[in-house]
Amino acid sequence: MNLGHQIRILEARKNYGALAALNGLSLDIKAGEFTVLLGPSGSGKSTLIRSLAGIEKLDSGSIYFGDHEVSRGPLNVAPEKRDLAMVFQDYALWPHLTASENVGYALKRRRFPSDKYSQLIIEALSRVGLESKGENYPHQLSGGEQQRVALARAIVAKPALLLFDEPLSNLDADLRERLRIEISTLTREIGASALYITHDQSEAFALADQIGVINKGSIEQIAAPEVIYDRPATRFVANFTGTAGKFTGVVKSISKKNCTVSLGKDLIKARHTVPLEVGQEVDVLVRPAATSFTIEGQNRISSVITDIAYRGRGYEHAIDTKYGSLTGVFDTISHQRGSTTEVTIDPDKCIAFPLEKK
Ligand code: ADP
Repeated sequence: MNLGHQIRILEARKNYGALAALNGLSLDIKAGEFTVLLGPSGSGKSTLIRSLAGIEKLDSGSIYFGDHEVSRGPLNVAPEKRDLAMVFQDYALWPHLTASENVGYALKRRRFPSDKYSQLIIEALSRVGLESKGENYPHQLSGGEQQRVALARAIVAKPALLLFDEPLSNLDADLRERLRIEISTLTREIGASALYITHDQSEAFALADQIGVINKGSIEQIAAPEVIYDRPATRFVANFTGTAGKFTGVVKSISKKNCTVSLGKDLIKARHTVPLEVGQEVDVLVRPAATSFTIEGQNRISSVITDIAYRGRGYEHAIDTKYGSLTGVFDTISHQRGSTTEVTIDPDKCIAFPLEKK
């Protein structure tokens, strides 16, 4: 098995006019690691992935693949010399080539010995479940099948780095889930390092060994999914990775990891990841997984059920409390709309941040 590239991006900058698409961004990816870069539209994800591919030149900063510097400012090693492959949102298959020929094209480009082509093509197409569709042209394939061909093309030469540019965005929900699992399995099977960009937090959490949250051309936090969820380093990271709602209050006491916040009559215990002071006004951001209707535990707040959504495994409730509303409060049974009940909020899954200045 090939070992993937170890990637090091140092202080990467790229401006478009006055706008900094990459604002001194640094990022490390270990060999064989699957990194997902998660951020809103316009945060610099495509610029970064295109710079790694070598199709965009940096203004300054460096990119290393192992010990090899492939970008130093605008000095660039050509894309075909980087031992990588990319999967795009719009598949980017050649329309006049069959599925097999599309996959084979990657081998030709990488100058593989031609006597190995047919064997490797068949192997790659069967890995994505398309061994019987080799002679079909892209227009004779569904969107999901076309993306599988693109995936086969990406893995056929077993590159050291796989780049994924929102590859599931154009597909239906059930297909997205299946293809996500294939991407995850195949990438790990060939041992490649991977960088996957998306604005979809559920995709990021499902795929990643590490998630980098990007905002305005810089990484705000890079860590394992569990750390991003339980200890978001900034308010932006917390908001972008999913909250059920927030309560505003005043810090009453602080320990190293936790703080107690007074919300009018109730006290709520929360984590904090940035320095806070007693008496400071804060927002407590509540993760959906923090909330439950269990009758034990700390942080119990009276609430009224305002909405119920059936989710197969159970029900997600929207609730109103004296201090604000929350969504996604899960239970296996449904609570009656308009009824009053208490919710419990796990102190380890709600995080206090200084009040946002308007
Ligand atoms: P994302 O992939 O996160 O949506 P991009 O990397 O595409 O973000 O874009 C980052 C910023 O750079 C955006 O504000 C975008 O409008 C701008 N930008 C990207 N490419 C160009 C370009 N070729 N010319 C001018 N501005 C660009």
